[in-house]
Amino acid sequence: MSFLEYAPAPESTAILHLRDEYGLFIDGAWTEGRGATFPTISPATEKRIATISSADATDVDRAVAAARRAYEKTWSRMPGGDRGKYLFRIARLLQERAREFAVAESLDNGKPIKESRDVDIPLVAAWFFYYAGWADKLDYAGLGAAPRALGVAAQVIPWNFPLLMLAWKIAPALAAGNTVVLKPAETTPLTALLFAEVVQQADLPPGVVNILTGAGDTGQALVEHPGVDKVAFTGSTAVGRQIARAVAGTGKKVTLELGGKAANIVFDDAPIDEAVEGIVDGIFFNQGHVCCAGSRLLVQENVHDEVVERLKTRMATLRLGDPLDKNTDIGAINSAEQLERIRALSAAGEEEGAERWSAPCVIPDTGFWFAPTIFDNVSTSSRIAREEIFGPVLSILTFRTPGEAIAKANNTPYGLSAGIWSDKGAKILAVADRLRAGVVWANAFNRFDPASPFGGYKESGYGREGGRHGLGAYLTTGPSKGGA
Ligand code: NAD
Repeated sequence: MSFLEYAPAPESTAILHLRDEYGLFIDGAWTEGRGATFPTISPATEKRIATISSADATDVDRAVAAARRAYEKTWSRMPGGDRGKYLFRIARLLQERAREFAVAESLDNGKPIKESRDVDIPLVAAWFFYYAGWADKLDYAGLGAAPRALGVAAQVIPWNFPLLMLAWKIAPALAAGNTVVLKPAETTPLTALLFAEVVQQADLPPGVVNILTGAGDTGQALVEHPGVDKVAFTGSTAVGRQIARAVAGTGKKVTLELGGKAANIVFDDAPIDEAVEGIVDGIFFNQGHVCCAGSRLLVQENVHDEVVERLKTRMATLRLGDPLDKNTDIGAINSAEQLERIRALSAAGEEEGAERWSAPCVIPDTGFWFAPTIFDNVSTSSRIAREEIFGPVLSILTFRTPGEAIAKANNTPYGLSAGIWSDKGAKILAVADRLRAGVVWANAFNRFDPASPFGGYKESGYGREGGRHGLGAYLTTGPSKGGA
C-alpha cells in the first residue's frame, strides 16, 4: 500500500556512452586482461551491461611495475602543490560528469538514482576536493616532520558504494604521493572503469592510477604481490582475515575496513517521528548494503510499541523498484548471491522465533529484490542479532536502562558505528563515551564527511579512512623505500 501513487520518472540512460567490452587500465592505457572475461549485469533487469576483463598474475605484475615506475620517476618527486592540482582537476571532472556517473552506478549496482545522484557522487567529488587540499600541507598533518609516501598501494574494494569506496582509497593515497593499483568488486566494475577515463582526461602521468578488474583471485594476487608497499582493503571480515594472514610479516602497511552490526539506540525521550526517519535511513538506505548500517534497533521498552507501529506505517510508504526511477526508495539487491544470503539469514530469524514483518511491496518479475523487513522480539543470542545480513533487514531488541542499552550495543564482535536518539545532550554524550564503535551519530544516522575519520574496532577492522587520520595510512616517517 502506498499513500500516494507516483507516475514513473525514469532517469534517461542516453547520457551513458559505454563500450561493449572493457579491458584493464595499466600505465595510462587500455589493455586486454589475460584471464577469462565476465559480464557485468544490471541487478534490476539481469541484463548484461558490458563485458569485463579479468587480470591474472601477469597483468598484476605489469600494473604493479607501472605503478612503481610512476612512483619513482614522477609522482613522489612532484611538489605536493602540483599533485593537488591533479586532484582538483579530477574532482572537477567528476562534478562535470556527475549525472553520467550516477546513472552508471545505479545501473550496475542497483541503488536508487536519488542516492547515487544526491549522496554517492557528491561525496566522491567532496573526497577528492578535500584531499587535494592536503597534498601540499602534509608537514602540518601532525604525523611528524616531513612525512613521506609509502610507495605502491594495492587497493581492493567492495560493491556497495563502488565509486565512493574508490574515492576513499585513491584520493588520500595520491595526495600523500603514493601510486595505486585498484581492484573494484566483480559485480560493480563500471564506475571504476569510467574513472579511468577521468584519469586520462585529467592527464595524470601514466601508471599513477591503474585499474584491474577481476574476482577474488585477482584481488589476492594483487595484495600478495611483493612489489606492493601498502594494502588497503574494504570488504568482508572473512576476506579481511585472509588478507591479514597473507601480509603478516611482509612489512606491508595494512588498513582493513570490514563488516558491522551497528546498534541504533532509541531512548524514550527521543522525538519519535525523527527517530523513525533515522531508523529507516539507518537500515534501508542503499538496501541495507552498508557496512555501518543500523541493523540492530535497540528501543527503550516503554516506547517499543509506539516506535514499531510508526515504523511500519513509514515502511509501507517506501517505494521499491527501478533504481533509475527518481521516485524509488529501495532499489535492487546487488547480486543473486547476496539475495540468497539475505534470504537464508531471514529464514534463520524466523526459525529462531523472531516475529517477521515485511513492507507490502510489489516485487518485480526479473532482477534481485527483497522487501524492507523487520524482525521483532529478537534475542541477543540469535543469528540475526549477531551476524551481518547486509540487506534491508532490521532486528529489534528492547532495553530498560542506559546501562542495558550500552551492554547490548557492545555485545557484538563488530564495532564500526552506532546511533543514539535522545532529547538529552548529556545522556547522548555519556552513552556515546561507552560505546565501542568507531563512529557514533547523535540524532542522525549514515552521515558522511571527508573531514571526519571513519573506521572500526574489533572485527570491523583497523585503521581510519577520511580526515587527517586517513592520511596517516599512506604516509611514513620511517626510512625511504625509493622515490623522492
Ligand atoms: P568481499 O570481502 O567478498 O569482497 C570485497 C573485495 O575483495 C572484492 O573486490 C573481492 O573481489 C575481493 N576479494 C575477494 N576475495 C579476496 C581475496 N582472497 N584476496 C583479496 N581480495 C579478495 O566483500 P563484499 O561482499 O564485496 O562486500 C561486503 C562487505 O564489505 C560487508 O561485510 C561490508 O560490511 C564490508 N564493507 C565495509 C566497509 C567499511 O568501511 N568498513 C565499507 C563497505 C563494505
